[in-house]
Parts: sequence; C-alpha cells; structure tokens
Amino acid sequence: MNDRAGTDGHGSDTLSPALLTVLSGPSGVGKTTLAAQVREAHPEVWLSVSATTRTPRPGEIDGVHYFFYDRPMFEDLIAKGEFLEHAEYAGNLYGTPRQPVEERLDSGQPVLLEIELQGARQIRTTMPEARLVFLAPPSWEVLEQRLRGRGTEPEDVIAKRLATGRTELAAESEFDVTIVNTTVEEAAAELVRLVTEPASRA
Ligand code: 5GP
Repeated sequence: MNDRAGTDGHGSDTLSPALLTVLSGPSGVGKTTLAAQVREAHPEVWLSVSATTRTPRPGEIDGVHYFFYDRPMFEDLIAKGEFLEHAEYAGNLYGTPRQPVEERLDSGQPVLLEIELQGARQIRTTMPEARLVFLAPPSWEVLEQRLRGRGTEPEDVIAKRLATGRTELAAESEFDVTIVNTTVEEAAAELVRLVTEPASRA
C-alpha cells in the first residue's frame, strides 16, 4: 500500500450524517481512540458496547469496554438472535448486542459501532441505511508499528491480526467513506463531522 496523507473517500465532503455509523478498519489502526474522541466531543453519540470471548486486557472493565462471555454463553446468544452482527476474529468471537442499538436508533439517537470487516459487511446487508466508515493507516509500516507498539498482544496474536489486516485493507472500496488516520485530531474531526453535522452542510 502506498503512503497516504489526509482524508480521502468517495465524496466525503458532501455526505450527510446517518443515524447509524459503522467504524471499521484493521486492528491497530486506532478505531477505539477515535471512537472515544467522538464520544468526548459529542456525548449524545452512543457507542455500542460489544460482547467478546477474548480475555480482558489490563484495565478493561466488563460491561464498559466489552461484555466478556465464555464461548458457550456467546454461542447461546447467537442462537437466540441477540446479536445484530457477530464474527470470529483472530480466534475469538465478537458481536454487537442487538437490543440496545435498536432502542437508541428507535429514539433517534446517533449510534456508533466499532467493529471488524465481517461485521461491517453484515450491517451493510441488514441495515443498508448505515454509513460505513473505513479507517485506514497512512501506510502498512505505520500500522505494523502501532500494533506492535501498543504491547497488548503476544507475537503470534500480532501476526494473526496483521494477516487479517491485509484482507481488511483490501476491502476499503466496500465502504462509503475512508478516513486516513494520519493524526488523531484530524481523523476525529472528520468522523465527528460525519456522525453529527446536519444534512444542510452539503
Ligand atoms: P480487540 O480484540 O482489539 O478489542 O478487537 C479486535 C477486532 O474486533 C477489532 O477490529 C474490533 O473493531 C473488532 N470488534 C470489536 N467489537 C466487535 C463486534 O461487536 N463485532 C465485530 N464484528 N467486530 C468487533
């Protein structure tokens, strides 16, 4: 992948906000930081709390960062249709609890999902009105550095995530808009605009 700077996309300057925004992109690109910045600037945007079977990282709180379930429990919830989307990623299951998202959307509150590619594709099919935002790294090298630099995963997990990252980067064109995460400030400003600005902006 070539080096990239700034924000590009498919006419992002003329897009109006969607009530449901999906933020996707390879592991390590900075989705969580960006989503947190949007929430800070706009607390009215509701950030979905996902469920996962992976082990909590130091500092992660059950019910705040994720709902941490074991696999049988997670599979039971899948069978009951409790997830809006779900996917297996690097050996663990991840899913978006359906009910809280539907409740917010029904009441007109903007919702942000931070999920990987397979989940984004499911949302594209089941909720076509959602806006899919792809967060891209400025370069492959930067992605690799960020993933290793955060020091949260052992080498075998990093390798799995990087391999998946190649596939995810190749899917960029499936998204409505791309934000290149050159600086967190610029990327956050762009995402805030997409999630919250009135349609008249266009
Ligand atoms: P992590 O283990 O680094 O927290 O997350 C791994 C990947 O799973 C990230 O790309 C993250 O965006 C994605 N992810 C987190 N929650 C969900 C979810 O509810 N559904 C899907 N499909 N992916 C998720």
